[in-house]
Amino acid sequence: MRTGVDYNESRAAYEGIAHKVVYTGPVDAYFDYKLGQLEYRGLRFETERLEEVNHQGVAVMNYTEREVPYTRVIEHKHFEFGTQPVTYVTKEYPADWQPDEEAYYPVNNERNQNLYQQYAELASQEENVIFGGRLAEYKYYDMDDVIKSALECANRELK
Ligand SMILES: Cc1cc2nc3c(=O)[nH]c(=O)nc-3n(C[C@H](O)[C@H](O)[C@H](O)COP(=O)(O)OP(=O)(O)OC[C@H]3O[C@@H](n4cnc5c(N)ncnc54)[C@H](O)[C@@H]3O)c2cc1C
Repeated sequence: MRTGVDYNESRAAYEGIAHKVVYTGPVDAYFDYKLGQLEYRGLRFETERLEEVNHQGVAVMNYTEREVPYTRVIEHKHFEFGTQPVTYVTKEYPADWQPDEEAYYPVNNERNQNLYQQYAELASQEENVIFGGRLAEYKYYDMDDVIKSALECANRELK
């Protein structure tokens, strides 16, 4: 097992040691962006320490009002029932995305869906490679949905 390496940079070496590859990276990167680049929504995070025991009472609070500049606030201690005297919160702000940044959410417009369909066609021709997950399928998945999808994929493969 190797972590912190880019599969696409040493693909030939990895293909040689596996009968089957599960690829969970961006599908356009796998094909060296030869049809163009898929776009994503960006995010900017601001984390702050607050000198209070409890800020919002829950781990996640979503904001949809136009007047509020952030879309959600995470209060980390509530994920693990923390009892610390202070609290840390992270605000998530929408941001423009640049290709060298983390790809957060797919942009589901006609341009990107058409481009993805072309990459999906190429992917379907790759023997012994399973393209799975939010980046390889260019799809927004919640965690429960992506686990379901992985289990279904495993069932198909192991039949
Ligand atoms: C900002 C944000 C907030 C979210 N909040 C929620 C939430 O509140 N609730 C919820 O249910 N879901 C949430 N999700 C969705 C959740 O994160 C996904 O469902 C889940 O991470 C998808 O799993 P995945 O394996 O498809 O992708 P990922 O978790 O992104 O895993 C992909 C893996 O592939 C690796 N990889 C990528 N490219 C390469 C490469 N070239 N070489 C080697 N390795 C590579 C990455 O390092 C990573 O380990 C959120 C997602 C985002 C982006």
